[in-house]
Amino acid sequence: MQRNIIDEYGKGYVHFNFTVKSLDGTVHLFFAEVHPDCREVEDVYHCTALNTIDSGHCIGCKDRRSNLHHPNDGGYLGGHKDVGFPFMEYDDSDSAGEDEWPTMIGLSEGDK
Ligand SMILES: [Zn+2]
Repeated sequence: MQRNIIDEYGKGYVHFNFTVKSLDGTVHLFFAEVHPDCREVEDVYHCTALNTIDSGHCIGCKDRRSNLHHPNDGGYLGGHKDVGFPFMEYDDSDSAGEDEWPTMIGLSEGDK
């Protein structure tokens, strides 16, 4: 199963393909987009059957899951933004300067 987790500035999406075999033996390919902690129906953002050559645009999957199929007519939420490094979202802008190491002196002398 092709599966890819996308993280767009704190909003996560999981894209995956799965197949469903109908009673007459025909195998249908589906695309689904769900919340990363999907447990309930509300966590499924999008789910649709794919045509054989659907190849909808998805930035989130194109680098690492280029063979994951997306519906041509869109409808899914994730994958439209180019976030650069979608798995490395750290904001260091308000961290202290380099000479502000925490002082531990008070702790070691407390229990005398
Ligand atoms: Zn995708």
